[in-house]
Amino acid sequence: MFDYNGSFQFAIAALKRERRYRVFANLERKVGQFPHALWNSPSGKRDVVVWCSNDYLGMGQHPEVIEAMCSAARTMGAGAGGTRNISGTNRALVELEAELADLHGKQAALVFTSGYVSNHTGIATIARLLPDCLILSDALNHNSMIEGVRAADCAKQIWRHNDTQHLEELLSRAAPGRPKLIVFESVYSMDGDVAPLEAICDLAERYNAMTYLDEVHAVGMYGPRGAGIAERDGVMERIDVIEGTLAKAFGALGGYIAGTSDVVDAVRSHAPGFIFTTALPPAVAAAATASIAHLKASGAERAGQRDAVAATKAALRQAGLPVLATETHIVPVMVGDPDLCKQASDLLLDRHGIYIQPINYPTVPRGTERLRITPTPAHDARLIGRLADALIAVWQELDLPLGRDH
Ligand code: PMP
Repeated sequence: MFDYNGSFQFAIAALKRERRYRVFANLERKVGQFPHALWNSPSGKRDVVVWCSNDYLGMGQHPEVIEAMCSAARTMGAGAGGTRNISGTNRALVELEAELADLHGKQAALVFTSGYVSNHTGIATIARLLPDCLILSDALNHNSMIEGVRAADCAKQIWRHNDTQHLEELLSRAAPGRPKLIVFESVYSMDGDVAPLEAICDLAERYNAMTYLDEVHAVGMYGPRGAGIAERDGVMERIDVIEGTLAKAFGALGGYIAGTSDVVDAVRSHAPGFIFTTALPPAVAAAATASIAHLKASGAERAGQRDAVAATKAALRQAGLPVLATETHIVPVMVGDPDLCKQASDLLLDRHGIYIQPINYPTVPRGTERLRITPTPAHDARLIGRLADALIAVWQELDLPLGRDH
C-alpha cells in the first residue's frame, strides 16, 4: 500500500534538515494601532511592533480605505458572484480598472485576484499570442514571473540581473523581426535595488522589443502620484505593460496589468488565470480604488515613509549593523546563515516584542539569509531607537559580527 502521508512527512523532514522549514507567528493586526499588533504567543496575547509588513504605507488600516470597503460590502455584498465572464463584473471593478489605467497613463487596465496571478497568466498569455516569441527575463525576477515564463512555453533567455549590456547582447543576437518580450521588475524586493528603466526602454526601442514591468514593490510609493518608478523616472509611456499589486502599498488585495486597449483586451479574452476564476469581491475593489485615489492626491504617506526609511537606515548603520545599501524603502540586515537568522528573529519577537520574519533560501540565495525591514510612515523615532537597541542586543547575544560594511 502506498504511504501517502509518509511522502508528505518525508518532504517536510527534508525542509527541516535543510533548516528551511517555516513557522509563522500568529498575529492580529489592530485598526488604529499600526504598526503594533497582537501576537498570539504560546504564553498568551502580547503587543508587538511589526517591522516586516508589505502594507508599506499602512493604507490597509486607513479610515478612508476601511470605510470604502465596509460601505461597498454593505451595498454590494461579500462576494463577486462569479468569474468576470459569467457574472462577476461589477461597478467597483470597472471603476478600479479606470483608476488604474489613469494612474499609469495607459488606455486600459485589467484586474486579477492577485499580483501573482497577473504575472503568471499575464506573461504567459502575452507571450503565447506573439508568434515565436523570445522572452528575455531578468535573473532575479519574482517566482510569479518565472512561472509565467515557464507557462508561456516559448524560447527564453535570462539576462544577468540589471545588466543592460548582457540584455543588449541577447537582443542583438535575436532575429530583428522576431517578437521579443523583456520582463523585469522596478524595485527588487529582497535586495531593494532598482532597475535602470531608461536604459532598458532605450534597448527595447532600438531592438523593437516589448516591455513588461513588475512595479509591485513600487506602486503607491514612488513617483509624484504613486504610479511607481516608471513615473518617477519619466518613462511610464515607454513601458508597454505595467503590472502591479493592490496588496502592498495600496493595502488591499489583487493584481493588475495596464497597457494599450489591445493588449489588455487580448489578455482579458485569452488568459486562463483571468477567465476561469472568480472576480475580486466588490468591497476589495472599492478599498483599492479609495487607496489609489488617496495616494494619487496625497504625498504625505510617501514623505513619511522616506523619512522613516532614512532614519532607520541611519540608526542601524550607526549601530554598526550589516545593512545592505539600498536606495529604496527595503532595508535588508544581513545574517548569512539560516539558523542564526531564525534565532535572531525569534529573539527579537520573544525578548523585544519586535516582529521581523527571517528570509531564507529559496527566497534569497543560501548564505545571504537576512532580516528584511520595511519602515512605514508609522514607525517613529522612538520605535526606530527601540529597533536599533534590540538588534544590537540580539547581535551580541548570537555573537554576530558588528561594524562590517555591506
Ligand atoms: N511580483 C513581485 C515582485 C512580488 O514580490 C510579489 C509578491 N511578493 C508578487 C509579484 C505577487 O504579488 P501579490 O502578493 O499581489 O500576489
